[in-house]
Amino acid sequence: NRFEQLGLGEELLSAIEDMGFETPSEVQEKAIPVLLADDTDMVALAQTGTGKTAAFGFPLIQKINSGDKTTQGLILSPTRELCLQITNELKNYSKYVKGLRVVAIYGGASITEQAREVKRGAQIIVATPGRMQDMINRRMVDITHIDYCILDEADEMLNMGFYEDISSILSHTPAEKNTWLFSATMPKEVAAIAKKFMSHPEEITV
Ligand code: AMP
Repeated sequence: NRFEQLGLGEELLSAIEDMGFETPSEVQEKAIPVLLADDTDMVALAQTGTGKTAAFGFPLIQKINSGDKTTQGLILSPTRELCLQITNELKNYSKYVKGLRVVAIYGGASITEQAREVKRGAQIIVATPGRMQDMINRRMVDITHIDYCILDEADEMLNMGFYEDISSILSHTPAEKNTWLFSATMPKEVAAIAKKFMSHPEEITV
């Protein structure tokens, strides 16, 4: 199957089979091999419904060390709904990956409960920018060792006024990490974020 040819491992391939995905979508076909093979930044222009969650989720899950409890991947998304949706998808994709925990962080729910979940170990955090910033300020999360940062629906996040939060959150992450930015459109604000926080990103468009 074509997912095997993208370089995905057994755990992911079994989950993909369970989910009934038959062939990779265009954004998956373009992003997955590059993200698996290279430690690179990426700017991907892709709408929702194109399979972009798996396009960043599969490589992220494969590259994370699930034997280490440190937070290694951070996904920022504009809304609570999207945050929960991504978290659920990633849990499905990683169901055969032992020890991997994906934790959602978003406003309008108990911050102490979310802090407790993080404390149990969260290799991947999926967060909305406001609550993430709040939890950083309260020392409830540590993102100083992340290897991967994904900005999902970057145009939406900027439309919603999250520039300051995003920029402050990124300032708490290591310079050597890889950043993968996904956006449906490329207004100048998104291009500016890419220019400021990313280096020589691979560019793909679907
Ligand atoms: P997304 O664009 O990530 O929101 O994905 C849209 C929907 O398509 C989700 O329900 C995914 O589970 C599903 N999906 C993603 N990739 C594939 C694929 N290769 N084959 C079939 N369905 C997929």
